[in-house]
Amino acid sequence: MKNWATVIKYQMNCNCIASRPLLCALFVLVSLLVLSCFDYPLISSKVWISGVKFINGGGSTEGTETGTIPNDRLLGGLLSPNFNEQSCVSRYQSMLYRKASPYILSSSLINKLRKYEELHKKCSPNTPLFHQSLQQLKANHSTDQLKCNYVLWTPSGGLSNRMLALVSTFLYALLTNRVMLIHHVDDMVDLLCEPFPGSTWYLPPDFQIKNLESYNLYSENSYGYLVEHNMINNDPNSPSSAVPSFIYLHLQCDYLYHVLHKRFFCEEDQEVINKINWVLLKLDNYFVPGLFMIPKYEQELERMFPIKETVFHHLGRYLLHPSNSVWGMVMRYHKSYMAKAKERIGIQARIFDSAPISIDDLYKQIVTCTQEESILPKLNPEQSKNSFLELNEATPRAVLLASLYGVLYDRLKNMYYLHSTTTSEIVSVYQPSHEENQQSEQQLHNQKALAEIWLLSFSDVLVTTAGSTFGYMAYSLAGIKPWFLMRSKDQKIPDPPCRRSGTIDPCFHSPPADLICRTRNITNAGKVVRNVRHCEDFDGGVKLFD
Ligand code: GDP
Repeated sequence: MKNWATVIKYQMNCNCIASRPLLCALFVLVSLLVLSCFDYPLISSKVWISGVKFINGGGSTEGTETGTIPNDRLLGGLLSPNFNEQSCVSRYQSMLYRKASPYILSSSLINKLRKYEELHKKCSPNTPLFHQSLQQLKANHSTDQLKCNYVLWTPSGGLSNRMLALVSTFLYALLTNRVMLIHHVDDMVDLLCEPFPGSTWYLPPDFQIKNLESYNLYSENSYGYLVEHNMINNDPNSPSSAVPSFIYLHLQCDYLYHVLHKRFFCEEDQEVINKINWVLLKLDNYFVPGLFMIPKYEQELERMFPIKETVFHHLGRYLLHPSNSVWGMVMRYHKSYMAKAKERIGIQARIFDSAPISIDDLYKQIVTCTQEESILPKLNPEQSKNSFLELNEATPRAVLLASLYGVLYDRLKNMYYLHSTTTSEIVSVYQPSHEENQQSEQQLHNQKALAEIWLLSFSDVLVTTAGSTFGYMAYSLAGIKPWFLMRSKDQKIPDPPCRRSGTIDPCFHSPPADLICRTRNITNAGKVVRNVRHCEDFDGGVKLFD
């Protein structure tokens, strides 16, 4: 067993529930300068995205047979036009409410996605190729003769942990030419739209391997167990027939307890796993920075993501689309309260058991952070009885507060109701729900949580809780570097109360460590490759930087 101090540290950190780089950098810099100079309208994506197009010479993505949707609404070719728009309105409308993405999309990613869509359609459940692969599942060994190999994903953890894991699994599928199918669970019904045209991403209910959710750290067909007991031929040069037709990959954050599960991040083990026709992946984490540490995938990742920190931003916008029921909630709320504001400020605040703080102190932390960083105006210390005469109505600001706690909303709203501000600005505060307790396993709770993440992603400025995957999703979809409300230590308000994120990509909370591989050792995950460094908001976590 490994060093226990390290294990305990990981466990505490483990939030289970809870080309042309210079050219790109220059381009983004110039773009940001342009944006900051002009008061550009929110729905400027047409000029912006279709003007920018993509780099690497990219081929056109327009002109498919059903391509009546203009290219800007396809996010510069990220989205396929081959859907009935009404079946999933959010897919083609989310961008009307978000700031346009200033992040370049590579033609390589677009091509990869179109090819993946073809593969998925060909290998989708109930196709002849799917049945052929099912036959192989009955055999005890793999073959290299199949056209369709699969990665099955089963949800675990809170909603946002699941979404980060889903996007990570999808990237893994893209890198390994597997088809991703997901295990449908009751609390995710009517949450997301089907993302791949003309096919489904759900495993059929009669799939022959049952109880996918029950696999765990100790399961006997996990890769770690098989290696530990010499039950798998892990010589990368042996044929496919030497490995089983199915294995389980345990990468939920407690995978760090077992040195052999970690071997997933070694190149030579990837060679072995890639030969297996069916893999089941259990993951509750954003393991994308870990994929960047595997030499085998480096070049492909570089081509797909010349700007590294945009992985979730692009893939999340591609893959995750709220169902029409959730979109209805988003639209009703946005149009009732947020649409007319000149500036939208999203604040996402929660308390983790691993970083306890009183509600009182959390409130003070939010106020100090937002006022010191000029996100919200300060209160006027010399408020007169007639201060209302000076109200500045030109730039009303709206705050969307996403939090389980209603009392935060009451206090923030009252503060700007009872007091005038130094700038005489009007600040309205809104909170869509306050569930008081985390209830992540019911369909309606998940729908409400997803709606709030979407509403947050329409913000101009974001303040999110350090280490919260709920916040990660919102800022990454928005393409905004948030202010993190830092984790409390010893139940005290941290000093400083918040810190600006350097990137827009989420943090991988439980990266491998002390891992000896043939081609590359991973001792300190923040120091293995140039673009993966420690996160600002979560000890021991790593994320992508440019
Ligand atoms: P994390 O725990 O912050 O990393 O985020 P997760 O989404 O993985 O898990 C938290 C769960 O608690 C969510 O899925 C929601 O069900 C619930 N939750 C936490 N904060 C909020 C909130 O601000 N609004 C709503 N509606 N639900 C929340």
